[in-house]
Amino acid sequence: MPSDPTSAHLPFGDQRSAPWYGKDIISVKQFHRGDLQYIFDVAHEMRGMVERVGTFDLLKGKILANLFYEPSTRTSSSFTAAMERLGGSVIPINEVQYSSVTKGETLTDTVRTLECYADVIVLRHPETGSAAKAAEAARKPVINAGDGTGEHPTQALLDIFTIREELGKLDNLTVTMLGDLKYGRTVHSLARLLLNFDDIRLNYVSPEILRMPGDVMEEVKARGVTQAEFTGLDEVLPETDVLYVTRVQKERFEDANAYETVKGAYVIDPVVMKAARHNMIVMHPLPRVGEISMELDSDPRAAYFRQMEYGLYVRMALLAIVLGKA
Ligand code: ASP
Repeated sequence: MPSDPTSAHLPFGDQRSAPWYGKDIISVKQFHRGDLQYIFDVAHEMRGMVERVGTFDLLKGKILANLFYEPSTRTSSSFTAAMERLGGSVIPINEVQYSSVTKGETLTDTVRTLECYADVIVLRHPETGSAAKAAEAARKPVINAGDGTGEHPTQALLDIFTIREELGKLDNLTVTMLGDLKYGRTVHSLARLLLNFDDIRLNYVSPEILRMPGDVMEEVKARGVTQAEFTGLDEVLPETDVLYVTRVQKERFEDANAYETVKGAYVIDPVVMKAARHNMIVMHPLPRVGEISMELDSDPRAAYFRQMEYGLYVRMALLAIVLGKA
């Protein structure tokens, strides 16, 4: 093994003229097929580096501010792990109730404060559009880690990376999204990001009150991609390559009774999966709250835990890219 494994294996260096240097990541609409190829190539290299050496110094001296106004386990800790595996450090603000937010500080002032100390800000916030607003106020790159029911672009990037690593292709796929398609920001981003690929068929399976929003369906239609809505899974499961399951988002419901009527609408278990192909995968952004039974975890098609790990590599790639080091 070479004495400096980073220089031996990666085409990394200081590339501040690279197109994503200093840029915000707010929506998947920013990404085209070529960008995705580039991000995934870097993520793939990151995976190899983590497997070979664990941690390396690509972002030594850089600081990430992790600003979360909503609960998070995976997104927050994977950004922290990503930064630390690249030799950087993190200001964690996971509990805004202990920050000046409680004193009434605005989001833009908080962001302006954090960018005095950090090189990049990762933001999760309950309001749709909040990441764009923060990015407008900030000089440093802002990465949207979920803005209400809007988008979750880094999740969609890791979802697509998962499909590529697991199925070996991103064209000619039938992707079935199931569950809370109305409030689930991950599926809004994923449907949009999949429009970059050829021969994609999108199936949306949801209760009537949790259908995919019209604006997302309009965008899909405008790109000529086949899409169809269902209330049951039976009809589409046998032809599905990727079953993307989502949680019913209790916290987004204004009417608690409405939540009760749909909370257990679908449960994917080994019996349901008998109708699915052998070479398909089941994904979930997690947390799950009953919509995938634990008995499915040992099925090789259950990709949701591997999906989390791919998230680390994608987030490492994104940090390196916006900080001009990939
Ligand atoms: N973790 C994902 C998100 O933050 C999915 C979920 O919460 O259900 O959107």
